Amino acid sequence: MVTHPKVSRSLSLESVDDLEDLNLTAAGLLHDMAALQPTERSQFGYKRAAKAIAYLPMPVSDLVEAGTLRDVPFVGPASARIITELIERGSSPTVEAALAKSAKGGTVQSTRAFREGYLSHFALSQALARERDPAIVSKAGYRGDFQMHSTWSDGSERIERMVEGALDLGHSCLGITDHSYGLPIARGISMEQAAKQWIEIDGVNAKYRGRFRVFKGIEANILVDGSLDLQPEECAQFEFVVASPHSVLRKTEDQTSRMLNAIRVPGVAILGHPRGRMFNRRPGVAADWDAVFAEAAKLGVAIELDGNWHRQDIDYRLARRALAAGCVFALDSDAHSIGELRFSDYAIAHARLAHVPAERVINCWSDDRLDAWMRQRHASPQHTAKRGRARRART
Ligand SMILES: [Zn+2]
Repeated sequence: MVTHPKVSRSLSLESVDDLEDLNLTAAGLLHDMAALQPTERSQFGYKRAAKAIAYLPMPVSDLVEAGTLRDVPFVGPASARIITELIERGSSPTVEAALAKSAKGGTVQSTRAFREGYLSHFALSQALARERDPAIVSKAGYRGDFQMHSTWSDGSERIERMVEGALDLGHSCLGITDHSYGLPIARGISMEQAAKQWIEIDGVNAKYRGRFRVFKGIEANILVDGSLDLQPEECAQFEFVVASPHSVLRKTEDQTSRMLNAIRVPGVAILGHPRGRMFNRRPGVAADWDAVFAEAAKLGVAIELDGNWHRQDIDYRLARRALAAGCVFALDSDAHSIGELRFSDYAIAHARLAHVPAERVINCWSDDRLDAWMRQRHASPQHTAKRGRARRART
């Protein structure tokens, strides 16, 4: 079988600018076809095939060359044809003809922009395995994850089970960040529930003392004006606050002031999934990210690389700019179950592609350094609220 000369078989990761992720491109073409299908059933077939390709552990071109593409579960003859066209010709005439014929073609084509900067599973494994300067962040120095959800809000596991899951991955700390009460759709917790959660966390910390530390966080929702759905005296009660956008994520107008206001709120330690983008679905917030990163660097607020596969937010391209601005980073899974703790690998992969040193990654810091950094986030000049219960309760 002949490989198109323009299409390289393996990924080139030496420069982030020439990253070519054919597995993701192939999955994207299948998503295009899914969107053009008249019935949910036929959409589902292409979507399932797309997911299988995005999660393949090897380059899809190897399977085309070996003639084993159809051995991949859920890849049927129509999907296999599209993928083979991509590998052999560099594009898929089948998909392009379907787009041209469909009234939805223009809309579907515009969603292609919502797949840029994402990594397939194979690209992730390449990014993690590729040799780098030892100062660059790697899985080896990663101590724990600072965005995850438990049964207190919309997660599926109790806190202690998440701790056990993290221990199985070799971690030694984590931050619990259930949703705050302003997000009822995600079963956000009241301050009364938060107080009960801290008692549970104190118990877990006592049990695992010397082996593992749970930090008391919250994922607050960034409102349209950049204020949070928590009052200042409420923010002050958590050890750290992740502030994240969950609304107005399709608007094309600039939202720089919203994001700047959010990171200026005392107590905010991490700007969570900063764009709020979603694979193949929405672009997320439009902002002058260099201005946001400059302010975050000045205030010591960490920029999150959210590793949830559908988010990958921010990606390696923006992370490079945040690095140049002097930011620190939080590389998180945003897990809602134990299995999803592994999404932190995507965050680490993006950080490696952006050449982020471990020194700039809060997930690699000691408990003492994390404590000091979180306290500093509460102690900004605007901060007048009293020191909180969560931190007192720990001592
Ligand atoms: Zn969120």
